[in-house]
Amino acid sequence: MQSSRHSSKEGDPTFQAKSRSTGEVLRRVAVYLRPYKAMAAANIGCALLSLACSMAFPQLTQLIVNDVVNGQSGHYLWPVIGLVAAFFFRDLFNSLRLLVNNTFEQNVIYDMRREVYARLQRLPVGYFDQRASGDLMTRVIEDVNSVERVLIDGTEQGTIAILSIIGFGLILFLKNPAVAAISLIPIPILTVGAMWYTLTAHRRYRAQRQAASAMNALLMDNLQGIRQIKAFNRQNHEDDRFAKRADELRQGTLGIMRVWALYSPVMNFATSLGTGLVLWYGGSLVAAHKMNVGELVAFLLYLALFYDPITKLHGLNQMIQAARAAGERVFDILDATEERRASAGVLAQPVRGEVRYENVGFSYGPERITLKNISLHAAPGEKIALVGPTGSGKSTLVNLLPAFYESTSGRITIDGQDITGIMLDSLREHISVVSQEAFLFNGTVRENILYGKLDATEEQLLAAARAANCHEFITRLPDGYNSHVGERGVKLSVGEKQRVSIARALLKNAPILILDEATASVDTATEKLIQEALERLMANRTSFVIAHRLSTIRNADQILVLRHGEIIERGNHEELLAQDGLYAKLARIQNTTFIEESFEKIGAVE
Ligand code: ATP
Repeated sequence: MQSSRHSSKEGDPTFQAKSRSTGEVLRRVAVYLRPYKAMAAANIGCALLSLACSMAFPQLTQLIVNDVVNGQSGHYLWPVIGLVAAFFFRDLFNSLRLLVNNTFEQNVIYDMRREVYARLQRLPVGYFDQRASGDLMTRVIEDVNSVERVLIDGTEQGTIAILSIIGFGLILFLKNPAVAAISLIPIPILTVGAMWYTLTAHRRYRAQRQAASAMNALLMDNLQGIRQIKAFNRQNHEDDRFAKRADELRQGTLGIMRVWALYSPVMNFATSLGTGLVLWYGGSLVAAHKMNVGELVAFLLYLALFYDPITKLHGLNQMIQAARAAGERVFDILDATEERRASAGVLAQPVRGEVRYENVGFSYGPERITLKNISLHAAPGEKIALVGPTGSGKSTLVNLLPAFYESTSGRITIDGQDITGIMLDSLREHISVVSQEAFLFNGTVRENILYGKLDATEEQLLAAARAANCHEFITRLPDGYNSHVGERGVKLSVGEKQRVSIARALLKNAPILILDEATASVDTATEKLIQEALERLMANRTSFVIAHRLSTIRNADQILVLRHGEIIERGNHEELLAQDGLYAKLARIQNTTFIEESFEKIGAVE
């Protein structure tokens, strides 16, 4: 389900969730309770038993008060003992209820969070292009918690409240119908209040959740860009930006609190008004000897038990509105269309790595076509270099192969099999991607290399590291292969990170390789080590290299020159020189290491 871009606040990276009715959200969250029916029953059972013990209180108090009024001081010992026993069991059941409730709650949070996370991982790359990580994190962490509260506490409190209202209401009517009727006077006020609150709170909760997301998104962005913030000396600027987002969250939260601060006491006052009316009318009955004091006291105590769940229902309504706003955001993720699911085929073994693009077209959105009529053929083991000015579509072209994005027209085949009919797991199992900026996970060097093949043996791991020319430097690290690389591999140099990522790809040993050559300059010795590692990685694999170094391009079996999303020239180095086109112009420019410099010199940059 697509949600629309939120544009009310400048630079707000969050998305407004699709609005859903309370009923829809509640129905959907109820699904998570199904596996825990026994726990739900135990939870409600304990709450009911605890409530039943509370019910003895007014009746026993009536006995005690009447004994005291009648001067029968010796008679009320047993009712007092009974009362203490009732309190004991009330609290015992309450303790059990809390235990069950918390286990139930944590189980449901765990299930829901896992489901949301699993879905997130299966959403297409394009989904993440449009959303801020901090927004998604807020949904997985905070919003799931909020939805869950209504599930557990709401179910329990709602059931108990409704049963209490019916039960105590009946008792009140059995005790004295006329006084009971008086006690119902505040009900219309309570109903109107609840309706007003429901309408007002939902809007405010939505805004508040959005503000929380926006703040978290900014925080995450800033943590990732902390070096840039410092390098540009923008701490004060960032302080201000964060303060603005934090203030929006504060205002949003205060807005909710203000409504609650008005609503909750007004509702309480309405019930107190009922108590006052009952006291006034009941007192007149006692004065007229139509009711005894004990009965009036018992009635007032039952009345408190009758009004209490009504107050709780308001709290529940608050919880539901919070959960509705949070649920809308969680269900936005759960309803988003997964990466292709229909395909059931697998690549036939062994995969030779023959790749064909047949008139492939692609656009990221309706505004612009990014790739047009791309046709290419890579024989198994061939090295294809992609060159072209920045923005010409090189990355987009290779990203279609592992189906990070789906082509909008034409077809792509591997060993003659259309990739749209192949399960993503099978497809990606046979393609390695080495990106320009090596991304390492926050773990050890060993974990990062093993990411290529989780069950690799120690020998395989070491062989890959040696082939990638990184074994030497790893053994020199304080903890060798168990050294932590820091977030995104921050503790390693650019050249080291590149080689670890090459080792990871070597270990994966896929027949097809996508390599976005790094443009970062490293010293000549490191450059040589990286080139060697890359040569080993490309050997016997069909390699698509987004080439930036002229030396890499010269060695390619085919060179594809892209411009404005089209292949304008193709052939090997000699053939392209003979064609005397853009590539020949590039090649004639001497003294450059990176192809971009040549493009700039001949003015072919978009
Ligand atoms: P470079 O050499 O600078 O990396 P490139 O040739 O690899 O460039 P692409 O990254 O494929 O070019 O981009 C092609 C076009 O598509 C560009 O105009 C770019 O702005 C656009 N583009 C790239 N990625 C996205 C995206 N995720 N969403 C929308 N547009 C995109």
